[in-house]
Amino acid sequence: MGFFDKLKKINIFANFGSELTDDFYDELEESLILADTGMDTTLELVEELRRRVKEEHIKTVEEARACMCRCIADAMTVGDAGLDLSTRPSVVLFIGVNGVGKTTTIGKIGSQLRAERKKVLFCAAAADQLTVWADRAGVDIIKQHEGADPAAVVFDAASAAKARNTDVVLVDTAGRLHNKQNLMNELNKISRVIDRELPGCARETLLVLDATTGQNGLIQAKQFKETAGITGIVLTKLDGTAKGGIAIAIAKELGVPVKYAGVGEGIDDLKPFNAAEFAQALI
Ligand code: GDP
Repeated sequence: MGFFDKLKKINIFANFGSELTDDFYDELEESLILADTGMDTTLELVEELRRRVKEEHIKTVEEARACMCRCIADAMTVGDAGLDLSTRPSVVLFIGVNGVGKTTTIGKIGSQLRAERKKVLFCAAAADQLTVWADRAGVDIIKQHEGADPAAVVFDAASAAKARNTDVVLVDTAGRLHNKQNLMNELNKISRVIDRELPGCARETLLVLDATTGQNGLIQAKQFKETAGITGIVLTKLDGTAKGGIAIAIAKELGVPVKYAGVGEGIDDLKPFNAAEFAQALI
């Protein structure tokens, strides 16, 4: 079974006849919009498909399907999809509103890095759930009481990472920082602590988004992008959602690569994102 098999397909390519008529393009457009790909991205994708169909002398719906997969994968390729973990330690910050799956994602990534024999450290202010994941993944955790200053916890984690020769520090930032000004202040503070304690370390800031929120997720992402220097997106809850197209809209409209996809609550239900594989599963 493929990783994205839990994704709801856009069935137009299977259900339409074999001829590429205008009706076909209309229905494709409609299905993409229904899958929450968003108007702008949908129109551009269908336009690009029409262009390539002409250029590559494509005649059948089946060939058009393969071509559409390439269009989607190309549209989603907007930067390095891998994580920069080139220094020891490297730091990955996770931001996003409550309930999107930050803690779960950190647990899953921690467990995968452990499987690669990396030394991992979790870091969080409010850490009940993350402690459960730390136990499960066999990862150390630096935490403080609920409501503690996130920058102070990061300071502790940076010291511990140096002392323990840690490879990767995964930081759960508090989801309560909805307010733009608060978020910016906290992230700046955290950033200064990292600059001072771990100068020159490789650093990523991943925005975690719940795919089931569709276009709202896109709006959220735009706001976070203005406030925090996001280096990648983690798209969670792609299992069973009919809104898979949102992944394309996010990458294309934000210009930030989707780096991980989550398709369930289990420890193995997260993978580095592969746009070609995703496109194959979506259509
Ligand atoms: P946080 O508040 O951002 O830290 O979110 P949590 O990690 O606590 O996750 C909130 C809920 O979403 C939990 O019930 C998770 O099990 C669930 N969840 C996280 N990722 C996924 C996913 O990829 N698929 C599904 N179906 N549920 C997920």
